[in-house]
Amino acid sequence: MERLQKVLAHAGVASRRKAEEMITQGKVKVNGKVVTEQGLKVSDNDVVEVEGVKLEKEQKVYYLLYKPRGVISAVSDDKGRKTVTDLLPNVKERLYPVGRLDYETSGVLLLTNDGDFSYALTHPKYKVDKTYVARIKGIPLKEQLRPLERGIVLEDGKTAPAKVKLLSSERKADKSIVEITIHEGKNRQVRRMFDAIGFPVQKLKREQFGFLGLHGLNAGEWRELTNHEVKKMR
Ligand code: URA
Repeated sequence: MERLQKVLAHAGVASRRKAEEMITQGKVKVNGKVVTEQGLKVSDNDVVEVEGVKLEKEQKVYYLLYKPRGVISAVSDDKGRKTVTDLLPNVKERLYPVGRLDYETSGVLLLTNDGDFSYALTHPKYKVDKTYVARIKGIPLKEQLRPLERGIVLEDGKTAPAKVKLLSSERKADKSIVEITIHEGKNRQVRRMFDAIGFPVQKLKREQFGFLGLHGLNAGEWRELTNHEVKKMR
């Protein structure tokens, strides 16, 4: 569901402000009825007409990007940094990232113009597992990782229990590789969880988002999801 003026703006009818004027002027119909109030929410099933012309619906598209480090998970950046949508330059639909990865984090990032899909995958109540591989400073004992499995109190609340696996350690370099699976998406969550137990993250990669992994892709490459994958993710 989106506000009518936003739908009009996204469809390229006019700027959002101009679209508001058109609504006030009675130029817009929803399901055959003139709408003059602002802010009405419409869904994909509603038929919107502007000055008697039906709005073309943008086709829903779904992409999986192997986000490299050093790219921002947004559609634009006021500091002029490269964004994830810059990596899919020939896609004409308006894409948005499904959740975010930090600037320095690499790995699976989905992009779509389907707001319902995005909501379902990012809301913690739907519990989509995300698996990360973190390189951390230090060599933790199993017991020292246990707080991650029980849940850690962060300033914005306690994290749900994570699945954690110590994959390897290098004594000389004083670093370890740990796999961690969480289903929430708090800001910088994995980094903050490891900070809290005293093993700061040096490098972070998201290997899996639900059942979707990076198979066959190099950093910066992307592919479309298949219809089957889209249905299975919902
Ligand atoms: N947790 C983090 O700390 N960073 C990410 O990019 C994703 C999860």
